Amino acid sequence: MRRHPQIIKTVLILLFTLFLNSVGWTASVDAGTSTVEETIHIKQSSKPASKDETSSPSSLSLGELRRKYKQTFKFKGPHVKQVALTFDDVPDPRFTPQVLQVLRSKGVKATFFIVGNRAVKHPDLVRQINNEGHALGNHSYSHPVLKKMKLEQFMQEILKTEDIIYRLTGKRPKIIRPPYGEVNEEEVKWAKDHHYMIVNWNVDSLDWKGLDQEKVKKNVLSEVGPGAIVLQHAGGGTGSDLTGTIKALPQIIDQLRSEGYTFVTVPELLGIPSLRVDTGVDGP
Ligand SMILES: [Zn+2]
Repeated sequence: MRRHPQIIKTVLILLFTLFLNSVGWTASVDAGTSTVEETIHIKQSSKPASKDETSSPSSLSLGELRRKYKQTFKFKGPHVKQVALTFDDVPDPRFTPQVLQVLRSKGVKATFFIVGNRAVKHPDLVRQINNEGHALGNHSYSHPVLKKMKLEQFMQEILKTEDIIYRLTGKRPKIIRPPYGEVNEEEVKWAKDHHYMIVNWNVDSLDWKGLDQEKVKKNVLSEVGPGAIVLQHAGGGTGSDLTGTIKALPQIIDQLRSEGYTFVTVPELLGIPSLRVDTGVDGP
């Protein structure tokens, strides 16, 4: 140790920096207005790494969060010849039954991310997704930008939806997909502490834009690879048109099968339980 005074010095500086950061983080959460907070804010704002920070001066980018919370925050699976198809914003009677029909006819199990306030309106569709053997995930209650919310609101968005899914299916899904893929560190930490997993994607069909069949197919097939998690939608807002994604789906499945891929759910791809084993949140 004595031969490396520079290392000791570096470690001390690092520890002091961490301490300063934690003070700054606490101060901003508590909405303090001290000069300490302002100093930290300016210092941290100049950090080049925090690309998509918007809500908090100490927020990490999604890439940084994924690296820091490797076991909790996923966007793809291991390098195996498997693909997980995922469908967000369900249930929606305009599109979900058609997606289910294609998957049934092809014998493919996929993963559906459920929006709580939609599940309340269309409970039979949630039951159908579950009964047909697909995996379920939590996509919040009202589809907000969760990373901008206070932790309490974030928890309500997740737990309210979980309770609805539980009442309809008897299941408490382990996986959460935040709307727009946006989440902050406090929320990832909460997910970790409560045995959830946050799952985004590494292949984006961009189907929500109302793209035609060929474009959806190209977006998926040009990016897909071993362990891919593919983002599509089986629900949308007013005026959205997912005809392209529904028509592209059988072709995407056939093409990938011909290349030797098999289709699995997200929990299967990641090798995790599909249901949350919890001690921290009360059951019904
Ligand atoms: Zn969504």
